[in-house]
Amino acid sequence: MTNCYCGSGKSFEDCCQPILTGKQSASTAEALMRSRYSAYVLADINYLMNSHHPSTRPTKERKDILRWTKSVQWIKLEVKNSIAGTENDTEGWVVFIAYFSEGGKIETIHENSRFVKENGKWYYISGQHQ
Ligand SMILES: [Zn+2]
Repeated sequence: MTNCYCGSGKSFEDCCQPILTGKQSASTAEALMRSRYSAYVLADINYLMNSHHPSTRPTKERKDILRWTKSVQWIKLEVKNSIAGTENDTEGWVVFIAYFSEGGKIETIHENSRFVKENGKWYYISGQHQ
């Protein structure tokens, strides 16, 4: 049993894995956000692209994102706040801090991400740095 990369305290098999493999869809915006963090850790670029809303999907940066996420060491994710984004919502926001090490230096991404649900599926739309 591997603790999930997203820091939920659950096992990977009971947390992000079924979402990454498409067995299950993320039921909340936060679950999608967490699965995207795990996808960065695992360099799962297909999942990162598919979970990104088509209107803002960075298709051209696909290779760069893949190269970048492989070049850093992901340390941990801290979810600071979730607004809406429940099973009954179609929009949600998640504030998080992701920690990673790049070239021996600890860096963070502090972001307020926006998510929308379409046809029962959550997508990442955009993020605002905090
Ligand atoms: Zn997880």
